[in-house]
Amino acid sequence: MIIDSHAHVNDSALDELRSQILQDTMDMPMKFCEVGFDCDSSLRAVDLAENNSGVYAIIGTHPQEAEKLTDEHLETYRRLSTHPKVVALGEIGLDYHYPDPPRESQLVAFERQLQLATTLDLPVVLHVRESYKDTLDLLSQYASDIKRGILLHCYSGSVESVKLFDKLGCYYALGGAITFKNAKKEEVIKAISPDRLLLETDCPYMTPVPFRGTPNMPKYVSLVAQKVAEVLGEDVESVIERTSANTKRLFYKIVD
Ligand SMILES: [Zn+2]
Repeated sequence: MIIDSHAHVNDSALDELRSQILQDTMDMPMKFCEVGFDCDSSLRAVDLAENNSGVYAIIGTHPQEAEKLTDEHLETYRRLSTHPKVVALGEIGLDYHYPDPPRESQLVAFERQLQLATTLDLPVVLHVRESYKDTLDLLSQYASDIKRGILLHCYSGSVESVKLFDKLGCYYALGGAITFKNAKKEEVIKAISPDRLLLETDCPYMTPVPFRGTPNMPKYVSLVAQKVAEVLGEDVESVIERTSANTKRLFYKIVD
């Protein structure tokens, strides 16, 4: 059983492939977590999970949508958090790649959702892009009150940052980017503790080699597993087994 811990199958780029993806998820030993990026897409993620076996939902407001976050949205996330197929709050965090939305509003939305996270029985999924220092500063204030754990999705930071996030007990998800040519990523893969590593696709983005240029899909998570196995000198089956066990430990509502 392989688990894609982070997918956006509801993205319009997958409109024509969606029914096949959902069929594959039933037919293959595979599961995926559908991630919302705002309140509407979080509700749609829950809907997708409710109607399809092997699909779970992650709910929250992405930093790019920070300015849209309202009290009602937070209340909706609180209400949905007890749903049996809602496995995490996310993806929340800070993305400084583009000038908008302004950092101040991203920090407000991130902190409000971290505060919510301390009151929920759910782990948190973080989106961190070019914002490691601010993320660590804010996260450090809340990490000890987030009882169910923290996952850094699409981890693209340094080995040094792994050491800092390790102190907060974080998990790390790696995706298609590790299949792109870049020796530095191999050091990062080796630096992550084996029991803290998860796999993801972030589909339809970040398509792994050799399918670059086509939409990414949850089943391509096996290519990420292959790359991890190659770097660690392990067989791919044991990587799949271990990363799935890690995913189920963190996303504890995935029980079957
Ligand atoms: Zn995502």
